[in-house]
Amino acid sequence: MSLQIGILALQGDVAEHAGILATLDAQITNVRREADLADIDGLIIPGGESTAIARLLIAYELISPIKEKILAGLPVWGTCAGAILLAKEVTNLDRPSLQLMDIRVTRNAFGSQIYSFEKQLQIEGIDGDPLNAIFIRAPIIENVGIGTQVLATLERGAIVAAKQGNMLATSFHPEL
Ligand code: GLN
Repeated sequence: MSLQIGILALQGDVAEHAGILATLDAQITNVRREADLADIDGLIIPGGESTAIARLLIAYELISPIKEKILAGLPVWGTCAGAILLAKEVTNLDRPSLQLMDIRVTRNAFGSQIYSFEKQLQIEGIDGDPLNAIFIRAPIIENVGIGTQVLATLERGAIVAAKQGNMLATSFHPEL
């Protein structure tokens, strides 16, 4: 049976994630209301603009329902802006968001859009060739707490992928 994967569909890279999930034979739920969370096996919080998604999470009254599901064990993957929204500590996000993962994140850590880049990245737990990771106004994970595993770093030591229990955060855009 294929998995039912939710994509938080408020703003950002929703269609791109859906396109990849379709090739993986997953069923897709665009999550916009609490009821959309009922039958999903996993949730993707896409890249986009974390300030915009944070505002919409509040407006759509989704913060508590999503937090409860994740705390109850729902697997979640926050990519780029999604990683920012999962972090317990963020530099310069203008309002609180989900704040679930023991990571400290700095937004726009590489500068503006023109400093976006691609990088061949080896990720802990994924054998074989490195992944072509795309960083677009990406955050850096500055620090992880005890119980949070670092899965990938850049040469200078910047953490760009981390896992804590059922929560995964990546600075880059795997769907691109
Ligand atoms: N710079 C964006 C933010 O702070 C994230 C960019 C992205 O998701 N590609 O939300």
